[in-house]
Amino acid sequence: MTLGELGGSAPTAQALREMVRRYGLHLTPGDWEGTERDNEPKWHNRTRFERKKMEREGLLVPARESRGIWRLTETGSAEYRRRRDPIAVPPQPTTTTTRDQNTNPLQPDGNQSPTRVEATTQRVVRSTAVAEHVKRVHDSTCQICNTRLATPTGAYAEAAHIQPLGRPHEGPDVPSNVLCLCPNHHVLFDLGMLLVTDNLVVIDQHSGAPMGHLAERPGHQIERRYLEYHRTWWRRRKNSVNAGGH
Ligand SMILES: [Zn+2]
Repeated sequence: MTLGELGGSAPTAQALREMVRRYGLHLTPGDWEGTERDNEPKWHNRTRFERKKMEREGLLVPARESRGIWRLTETGSAEYRRRRDPIAVPPQPTTTTTRDQNTNPLQPDGNQSPTRVEATTQRVVRSTAVAEHVKRVHDSTCQICNTRLATPTGAYAEAAHIQPLGRPHEGPDVPSNVLCLCPNHHVLFDLGMLLVTDNLVVIDQHSGAPMGHLAERPGHQIERRYLEYHRTWWRRRKNSVNAGGH
């Protein structure tokens, strides 16, 4: 980072001075003790060690080529920009990384230390009370498949809004617009793969066949107009996709 701010290169002495200025406070007294060989402060050695490491990683121009100047390579400069400004420059592939011949070539490398950025988002604030109420009434049991996922911290279920809260749906966050579902059926319901009739028959949109009845329990009434909204929305989408495709 120091080198990046110095414009990508600096004579050894300047680089070392800059390191002291920036990181001086982090050096321990022991780091200032001279080595037995040449009485140079130990942290100089530490810095050299770091330099070697950066060379091996392809971030720094090797010492023998740069004659007393510490200079970042292109990869090193890109890495510096990436750290300084995580959004603007995506992570550069490290050229020195050797790929195992046996690994699947389609599998992405991923990132061992993903960059974290602060972001401000707007989201609908859901009432946990509504979700918790519906899950409690159903004892965290899926209203479609009757599955109850037991976990060490209690049963797991999801509260699924029938008419979604976000735009353009603007559905209400009330118990009569919420289903208690397992994660799989929550996803299928949200993607319109499952529609529910006013008689609470669950229809699989893939086959068009009924899958069974949506389970109801006393204390949780589903309003039919939300089910109708969900059906209409997805039928309209399906029709427009079909019309566009043929
Ligand atoms: Zn389920």
